[in-house]
Amino acid sequence: MDTFVSLSPLTGKIMATFPTASGADADCAVEQARELAEEWRGRSVRERCAVLRRWRERLAADAEGLAATVTAEIGKPLQEAWGADVLPSLTALRWLEREAERLLRPRSASGAGLTAEPYGVVGVIGTWNYPLLLNLTPVAWALAAGNAVVLKPSELATVSALRLMDHAKETGLPVVTLPGGPETGRALCRAGVDKLAFTGGARTGRAILTELATTNTPSVMELSGNDAFLVCADADTKMAARCAVWARVCNAGQSCIAPQRFYVVREVYDAFLLECRRQIDQLRPGIDFGPMRTEQLRRNVYGLVRQAIAEGAELRIGGDCLTELPGFHYAPTLLAGCTDEMAVMAQDFFGPVLAVCPVASVEEGIALTNSSDMALGASVWTRNAALAKKVSDRLRVGLVAINQDSLLLGANPALPFGGSRGSGFGRQRGAAGLEEFIQWKVSAEHCGGAERRHLFPYRPATLPILRGLCAFQNAPSLRDKAQALQQLVRAASDWKRQSGQD
Ligand code: NAD
Repeated sequence: MDTFVSLSPLTGKIMATFPTASGADADCAVEQARELAEEWRGRSVRERCAVLRRWRERLAADAEGLAATVTAEIGKPLQEAWGADVLPSLTALRWLEREAERLLRPRSASGAGLTAEPYGVVGVIGTWNYPLLLNLTPVAWALAAGNAVVLKPSELATVSALRLMDHAKETGLPVVTLPGGPETGRALCRAGVDKLAFTGGARTGRAILTELATTNTPSVMELSGNDAFLVCADADTKMAARCAVWARVCNAGQSCIAPQRFYVVREVYDAFLLECRRQIDQLRPGIDFGPMRTEQLRRNVYGLVRQAIAEGAELRIGGDCLTELPGFHYAPTLLAGCTDEMAVMAQDFFGPVLAVCPVASVEEGIALTNSSDMALGASVWTRNAALAKKVSDRLRVGLVAINQDSLLLGANPALPFGGSRGSGFGRQRGAAGLEEFIQWKVSAEHCGGAERRHLFPYRPATLPILRGLCAFQNAPSLRDKAQALQQLVRAASDWKRQSGQD
């Protein structure tokens, strides 16, 4: 049997060994989920939320253990495991418990009843950088909507994801887990799920879409970002720099929604760089930042920074692997004088690197922000509320953080999260996130008159009625409307007479 391991980036030691789920395992998992889905969809949203609440209570009781597992498996400081994984996951479940029933309630439109129907079995292919929050949200939203779920967690976060999902299974939630790497993910795409929620890289997303296209399987795609951070001349540069450094260094720069391209207008360029450098200088390895998840990721960021320097970027601080520390630490790095042609700006990558580019104006910053194929988030810093609104309106991304951290905004369960263009489509979290996992079903009883004029046999007298209706509904003036009404009444009585003769 094929196996894989999860290595801790802090110690380099094996945390656990897992059997790799095969294609046959994926088929069984979907079949098992389909059986669970039957019973689950029959429960009311309130009943489902009561089970989600029990999941939350179990998670809260195991919060210390969950946080410690995330720190050991991903390498992030314990404060980040608590602040960015454990707590937001619990908050997300509380939001669902409060809101799902209202958002999914049956409604009516045009005399018809609308009911929120689940898809059936939702496949979730997860990522590793926030192993609790980013696995919990698609799973919980799909469950609240009445689906059963098969989760294929990232091979780099399996220990954390399975600990999270063991609690879910023990509370009776219809979740099946499928450990494995890319091959297992591919197998899940082929196993007949009714919808797939994917979080991960853009290239993987495209491969999955190709796979899903053969079976018309719908999906929601949360892909890579390459977010811009736009600093205007009137910004609070100190706070902007503090937030910039935090957003790009926390989780060792491994956040899809972290800013990566820093466009700073020339008036405050030097002040911004000085403050960023000062902030980075104070960071303590092991306390403020942890290692990267893998050596491969560290090698990648090392290469990108070296390349940028060779192409003319100025290294202000950092720029090296911290080999004296255990694991795969990379020094938080500040590069000045970057341009959009450099891979460090143009490519989406993980790593604690601030690549700063001076711009002549806000206009130039907006144009450069929108020039990327990626469109997940962006931040704008200005003290002028009207300017902030104007810039925000023109940025073609899924989320704009104004004078605040995009990471915190992105974790808010009440807000729809997602991008467009190369960053994917569909939304997770918020009301829009629930809509991803349901289809509105229309159910209506005949409520017109006894005459069903649209039925066979077609009569010559029907056409004047249709013409009269068209003229009446679209009449440009009251006089025309009155005239059309007269025509319509005449046509209706002709129709009655003719149908009586049939
Ligand atoms: P990845 O694309 O390498 O892997 C993601 C998941 O897909 C893993 O579970 C992996 O096993 C699986 N997978 C890989 N190839 C597959 C295939 N051909 N078919 C099916 N499944 C396959 O990405 P990653 O390393 O987990 O995460 C890093 C990327 O994810 C970054 O680009 C980051 O920007 C992005 N990301 C996006 C979001 C978001 O919400 N938009 C959140 C976190 C990470």
